[in-house]
Amino acid sequence: MYDALVIGGGPAGLQAALTLGRMHRPTLLLDSGAYRNGPVDAMHNIVTNDGRDPAEFRSIVRGELAAYDDVEVRDLAATAVGRLGDGTFEATLADGSVVASRTVVLATGLRDVVPDVPGFAEQWGRTIHSCPFCHGHELSGRRVAIQDSPAAGHHVVMLTPIAGSVEVVAPVTGVETTAEGLRVTSGSDSVVVDGLFAHLAWEQAAPFAAQLGLEMRESGCIAVNLFGQTSVPGVYAAGDLAHVADLPMPMPSVLAAAYAGQLAGSSVLRDLVMPVG
Ligand SMILES: Cc1cc2nc3c(=O)[nH]c(=O)nc-3n(C[C@H](O)[C@H](O)[C@H](O)COP(=O)(O)OP(=O)(O)OC[C@H]3O[C@@H](n4cnc5c(N)ncnc54)[C@H](O)[C@@H]3O)c2cc1C
Repeated sequence: MYDALVIGGGPAGLQAALTLGRMHRPTLLLDSGAYRNGPVDAMHNIVTNDGRDPAEFRSIVRGELAAYDDVEVRDLAATAVGRLGDGTFEATLADGSVVASRTVVLATGLRDVVPDVPGFAEQWGRTIHSCPFCHGHELSGRRVAIQDSPAAGHHVVMLTPIAGSVEVVAPVTGVETTAEGLRVTSGSDSVVVDGLFAHLAWEQAAPFAAQLGLEMRESGCIAVNLFGQTSVPGVYAAGDLAHVADLPMPMPSVLAAAYAGQLAGSSVLRDLVMPVG
């Protein structure tokens, strides 16, 4: 019986496990190896880690976790999580084994729905970006296209002082790398730019919120308070998959995810040592 089962090995789950390991709480972290920023080779806007390869970041944290005997890390997916009658949890793993835990921290993130447009998937996270804070500066003085969407107006305002040129394009029907740059095609029109910003739909990366019957927000993310507590006692959620009521939307960033993971980890501890009632 673990004190905490942390599902997810991105910044949220890694930090939650670090917090619990430092408090000597038997913790199992599961990681299926599919990270939201997986296609990116440099992440930005993160103090002490600006420009670092996300894979290197995760590897550094894995090294830090190795110093804590109470944290066990397995590169394995969970397939199902359920709450038992006594308020503890059971998870089935991809190898068929079953683990038991007093609490669960969901940190499985979101999955971007990459459109079925030729070239798009290959360029997502490379020359096609979602966030001006994360990848705007690298396009300083260069040619930028923005796919029309409800977010396009904001992106224009944010990127105009940074880029050399900014133009909004209709829904993209093809992208292709050429010697001159990235050719972005919208129907019969095309432009050649250095980067494209696109606002994609996304979905929960894992089915556990539904399996556990957690309350969701309209955003499609798990309803949590600032401490990462969900609507089900003993279940916490941190990172991209969760949405705090006071924020207008889920705030996807590495630092925000790590911060939420730390609060969720400390909340697990508080609830274990000072259970309500
Ligand atoms: C293209 C792109 C570029 C980005 N660039 C930046 C940037 O430069 N700076 C920045 O601050 N933010 C950036 N972000 C946002 C950032 O990637 C996310 O906010 C951050 O990764 C969220 O962390 P997380 O821990 O919530 O989820 P993730 O990092 O997505 O981690 C989810 C974890 O859950 C695991 N998982 C999922 N399902 C299961 C399962 N069934 N069993 C076990 N494990 C499971 C995954 O394997 C993974 O370990 C970028 C996002 C995108 C899409």
